[in-house]
Amino acid sequence: MAVFLKSHPRAMDWLVEEDVDSSSSEIPGFLKKRTDSITRKVFEAMAEMGVPKEIASKVRVSFNLDKIAPSPDVRKKGSSFIVEIPFLFLLEAKDGSSEMGPKMGALIAKHLFTPRELTYLKAFSEFSQDPVMAEKAKKFVLYHEIAHILFQHFDEVDDDKSKDREMQADLTSAEVSHEAEGGIYLFNIMSKYDQAVSTTHPSFEERARYLREFQDVRSLTPSPDLI
Ligand SMILES: [Zn+2]
Repeated sequence: MAVFLKSHPRAMDWLVEEDVDSSSSEIPGFLKKRTDSITRKVFEAMAEMGVPKEIASKVRVSFNLDKIAPSPDVRKKGSSFIVEIPFLFLLEAKDGSSEMGPKMGALIAKHLFTPRELTYLKAFSEFSQDPVMAEKAKKFVLYHEIAHILFQHFDEVDDDKSKDREMQADLTSAEVSHEAEGGIYLFNIMSKYDQAVSTTHPSFEERARYLREFQDVRSLTPSPDLI
């Protein structure tokens, strides 16, 4: 917590005593607008990505305020798909300077942080220094998760191909969300804080690298309107 508070420019403002019931797992009323808008964005993203209606109708959006992670998680449960939105995804850079700040701070403060959560908080502190890029990055990761639903990646069991599936989700997100830039911004920050080798995901460095390549190719390809 201390590291997070030091590195977040507005974090001290968040240390106001707040009457937020953090023992309840229910979504506090002051977050309702935000959770509604994220739920809407999930369904808009599915429409934009061409997720078939019969699949989209099986998608449920859930919010987990106890999960300190930056990116949503998608999993299959029976015949439904759960898009789980973690706490950090709900935060916006401007919260620190708004009336949401202390309330969000109270929700954060109830956590005893594991090393991993601390890493995410430090990364989030840096990430939110640029509010515009932060929102682009959030759009990028949301579309990445929806790409997993679109391609039905849950039905594939070949673990050797896991990194390929992640790359496919990244590049599809870049294509449809037009936010490769947001992905590069996020992965550059994450690679500073987290160099752990993953068996399921390419390294953050690698993900930033192929997104830059994607952008370079795009900038060389004339758009159809110009031909
Ligand atoms: Zn993924």
